[in-house]
Amino acid sequence: MTARTPERPSSDGGITSLSARRHGAGARVELVGLTRTFNKMLALDGLDLRLEPGELVSLLGPSGCGKTTALRILGGLERADSGQVLVDGTDVARVAPQHRDMGMVFQSYSLFPNLTAEQNISFGMRLRNVASRERKKRARELLELVGIGDQATKYPHQLSGGQQQRVALARALAIEPRVLLLDEPLSALDAKVRAQLRDHIRSLQRRLGITTLFVTHDQEEAMSMSDRVGVMSSGRLRQIGPPAEIYGSPADVFVAEFVGSVSRLPAKVTSDGIEVLGRRAPLPVTQAVIPPTGTSIEALVRPEVVAVRAHPDGLGVVTAISFLGAAMRVTVAIGGGVEVVADLSTDLAADIDTGTVVSVELTGPPLFVDTPRPRSTSDSVSRTLDRDA
Ligand code: ATP
Repeated sequence: MTARTPERPSSDGGITSLSARRHGAGARVELVGLTRTFNKMLALDGLDLRLEPGELVSLLGPSGCGKTTALRILGGLERADSGQVLVDGTDVARVAPQHRDMGMVFQSYSLFPNLTAEQNISFGMRLRNVASRERKKRARELLELVGIGDQATKYPHQLSGGQQQRVALARALAIEPRVLLLDEPLSALDAKVRAQLRDHIRSLQRRLGITTLFVTHDQEEAMSMSDRVGVMSSGRLRQIGPPAEIYGSPADVFVAEFVGSVSRLPAKVTSDGIEVLGRRAPLPVTQAVIPPTGTSIEALVRPEVVAVRAHPDGLGVVTAISFLGAAMRVTVAIGGGVEVVADLSTDLAADIDTGTVVSVELTGPPLFVDTPRPRSTSDSVSRTLDRDA
């Protein structure tokens, strides 16, 4: 049981008292060598993951890589074939989900349809024999905390998707969990509500200090919300680190291509670098093994190291432009089925449109060099070039 700090008097509807009660209460969580097989299919293959108290860690990875299985094993909803789940150093294998002191929010809100928002939030507290007056007080605090203090008496069908998910979040927080498990909690919501709720969850999680594991498909969500992001594939963690590190210094080609945008450009290893786009470029900074001089390879580059300019003798043709806010993302076909993506400031992109002939240069080293992958030459890029030839 967690020691409860005394409540402070508050002038903000109880929010301060709730924050104070929870502050710094997050548990340390360790998943050690977890394996899980379903019908001979290895869903987790020796997963190791550690969450520090109060930390928010997101798991990203392709569909079926084991993210949800890891979360469910931590929550006690699924068992591991081998390995350990430690909470503050204690193995919780034999602890039932309802006794793990963990709140869970899933993609489907799964609220009780016959209970009001307030009653839904109170439900878990009732099971834990919290006194009726305290239940009511805490439910009201939580409704305020998740920003729907005026919706207490509504039933789920009278609430929007975003409001229902706020109730689900408040319900998970009501039991004062030391760990919060979020499994795609925002994916059923529209973009605007999603962004609002994302910020709300993050600031709440920080204020309350709850250790949080967040499973998502959405890279932007993971990168913007997390202290650290873990990238999984085939039941294992490929890399874990702060978002900027995962993006800027991916551990391998898989992570580089999974997180953010990467273009693969045909290149050749030279004695002192690589030759790419008809020019010399430096070798990747962190790659330990570089193929011998003369080897044909592909250079993996991020959009921000690609410079694109309108130029009548350029080697590329712009095939797509999308607006990113402060920048424009420009896709350029350079022949042979190769596309390169660049991010340009809006002023640099002013004289560029679909069909503009452009020059393309690298302004920095690639992330990696890799063996070439087969390309389809019958794609739209080649068709564009053929037409323009
Ligand atoms: P997604 O992003 O699509 O939700 P995920 O990374 O969360 O995928 P999991 O749901 O953990 O992946 O599933 C990992 C693998 O285990 C998948 O191949 C899945 O089909 C399989 N799997 C998960 N749960 C079960 C189950 N109860 N019975 C059989 N197979 C399962």
